[in-house]
Amino acid sequence: MKTQRSEQLFVDAQQVIPGGVNSPVRAFRSVGGTPRFIARAKGSRLYDADGNSYIDYVLSWGPMILGHAPAAVTKAIQQAAANGTSYGAPTELEIRLATMIREALPSMEQVRLVSSGTEAVMSAIRVARAYTKRDGILKFEGCYHGHSDYLLAKAGSGLATLGIPDCPGVPEDFTKHTLIAPYNDLATLDQLIKKHYRQLACVIVEPIAGNMGVVPPTQEFLQGLRKLTDAHGMLLIFDEVITGFRVQYGGAQTLYGITPDLTVLGKIIGGGLPVGAYGGAKDIMKMIAPSGPVYQAGTLSGNPLAVTAGIETLKRLNAKGVYAQLEQRSAALAEGLGKAARKAGVALTQTRVGSMMGAFFTPGPVLDWGSAKKSDTKAYAKFFHQMLEMGVYFAPSQFEAAFMSLAHTPKDIDRTIQAAQQAFKSL
Ligand SMILES: *Cc1c(COP(=O)(O)O)cnc(C)c1O
Repeated sequence: MKTQRSEQLFVDAQQVIPGGVNSPVRAFRSVGGTPRFIARAKGSRLYDADGNSYIDYVLSWGPMILGHAPAAVTKAIQQAAANGTSYGAPTELEIRLATMIREALPSMEQVRLVSSGTEAVMSAIRVARAYTKRDGILKFEGCYHGHSDYLLAKAGSGLATLGIPDCPGVPEDFTKHTLIAPYNDLATLDQLIKKHYRQLACVIVEPIAGNMGVVPPTQEFLQGLRKLTDAHGMLLIFDEVITGFRVQYGGAQTLYGITPDLTVLGKIIGGGLPVGAYGGAKDIMKMIAPSGPVYQAGTLSGNPLAVTAGIETLKRLNAKGVYAQLEQRSAALAEGLGKAARKAGVALTQTRVGSMMGAFFTPGPVLDWGSAKKSDTKAYAKFFHQMLEMGVYFAPSQFEAAFMSLAHTPKDIDRTIQAAQQAFKSL
């Protein structure tokens, strides 16, 4: 496979962009090698600057659930662009997207649109703090909620789980309000909450973890979370930036039948353009300016281009059979990969909820960050490069999800499984 053009572009990019990329994981640091520079994408395929094509299971890290450049969405974006791309004034389109979101996730009685998942999480936490008049937040190890200061915290040693900064430039004064607990561990959570609840405004969780690979929750974990937060006057925030409109039209909260107080969305609801959203009960959301004192604003928030892409995407997703197709194709891929790994004697722990798929290079089980990080990341890197060479694009990190789109065909899946048979054999 020729990669000269990508290699040259990577050299050029590093002159003007830190690390050559505008988001770190794109740089292939954890698998080594040169990132492919993408020239265009259509359906299930990415095409790079050297003219190579790849079956894409990254899908821009989740948003492109319809596949790349779906005709209806592209056309709607073009039409919207011709009418102006931002007005800094309200539009009818925003009501439509907010209404579609509320119909899908009834816990989001009121919705505020922003421009990224990071921004939505930050804002939801600000509201939770204002509403409860408490400063502390509790998050789970291995969950990612964007790059705001107090969420870039890692756990201290043992049970001393007060957050310590995970990143230079983040003051300890910010992360000292962040408590960190292991995922899927209700006993530890119970202890922590009983000890600290007077300071805790909220618990934020990815209801299906998707940023340490895919780690599904146990039913008791989510139910316990709901019970504990209710019992101690804290808000429960579901970060459904990945899971919203991915595992089901109504997100993980519908799938598991658990109602959070606040929900954060992103990725899919922007149809490939920059959108985030947060929402919850009116009683909480009325705290936000201008109806209340909690300030949050955005120049490009709710801009007609992004909102149009979101509306058109959700329309397609609300059609009959969509999630059944995603489930069926994802199951076929997972089954094929599992068989290929077993045949080659590779210890692989597979996880999957609908079209969110994980495959850890470890005997498992994988229930949290502690068990996820036992994965053989060197083996993953080798697998990743072999697949890439055969035209299949998985995430350039063991600890990211693989996604299926509606544009992936049974033939794409067969080709992927055939490639994986070879890749596993060579490990
Ligand atoms: C991607 C992601 C975010 C951050 O969204 P951005 O749009 O990248 O800022 C937050 N939470 C989760 C669960 C995510 O996967």
